[in-house]
Amino acid sequence: LVSRESHSGDTTVDVDGLKVGANAPFCLMAGPCSVESEEQLISTARAVKAAGATILRGGAFKPRTSPYEFQGLGSEGLRLLSLAKKETGLKIITEVLSERHVDEVASHTDILQIGARNSQNFQLLIECAKTGKPILLKRGLSQKIEEWLLGAEYLLAHGNNKVMFCERGIRTFETYTRNTLDLAAVAIAKKESHLPVIVDPSQGCGRADLVRMLCKGSVAMGADGLLIEVHPHPAEALSDGQQQVDFVGFQQLVKDLQPLLGAM
Ligand code: PEP
Repeated sequence: LVSRESHSGDTTVDVDGLKVGANAPFCLMAGPCSVESEEQLISTARAVKAAGATILRGGAFKPRTSPYEFQGLGSEGLRLLSLAKKETGLKIITEVLSERHVDEVASHTDILQIGARNSQNFQLLIECAKTGKPILLKRGLSQKIEEWLLGAEYLLAHGNNKVMFCERGIRTFETYTRNTLDLAAVAIAKKESHLPVIVDPSQGCGRADLVRMLCKGSVAMGADGLLIEVHPHPAEALSDGQQQVDFVGFQQLVKDLQPLLGAM
């Protein structure tokens, strides 16, 4: 169902009235790694909207490597995301970590994000598919492209075709970057599948100083959109401050992309 043989043309995903993918404007999803407070989220929502984003990202349930790190605000974070949508009109994307939270998260978000650590949690995939909500499926930490495509196949096989892939870097021997962003995978996913492909350069390299260049590379590889971490004060962020750009950085990044997007 995911392959091009089973579908003619490219798929457009409808996100609560906003189109993503084929015949739609390039999609910018941006916002903090974690929802931390009302002030942090609303100020970021306003800043990313002013710069051109149409979808606000923000983690309420966070998959942290250490149990002693900030785990997210949970239900309170979801409430703040709904508030941000009401205040700004931005659509919302947030991660669902557990089958137990699917209904609660779905009632506060326009896109369910399935994170890298859960990309082969098939029971979670099935429960997310059943909601009928658009789903962004991240590539797993060490996942082969074929396995990633098959993860999406689970979603379509369970009746949900509003699926977007998200390349977010894979684990390699390299240590200069947090992960190795696999831009070839973007071109391959576009070639093999009719579904939209989004790139997350923030997780992809783990370095704010490289995000802008990786965004340009993603556009050149045919991505349909970007998922970018933005924080008002990255140095004070409760999670992943090193990979978040500030408001000025985000504005500059969008400005840099304009000529490329116009040329596509
Ligand atoms: C995130 O986007 O907040 C996140 C945790 O991403 P990933 O699942 O790609 O690590």
